[in-house]
Amino acid sequence: MARKYKPVVLPLREVPAALTEERARCPICEDRSSGVIGRLGLRLVFRCERCRVRFYRPSPAIRFG
Ligand SMILES: [Zn+2]
Repeated sequence: MARKYKPVVLPLREVPAALTEERARCPICEDRSSGVIGRLGLRLVFRCERCRVRFYRPSPAIRFG
């Protein structure tokens, strides 16, 4: 029996509505329009559409409830 391994995908959580408009600067191309795609714990996950790269930022002081 061949086993299938699922690729490890980190489960991104939904971003609170207050943070969905957050933008961050891409560390690679420095484009400032990278948008939030989710959160991982207390970090916001951004994605640069130009570089197709994910990067993280600590979320601003807000309580996830
Ligand atoms: Zn970029």
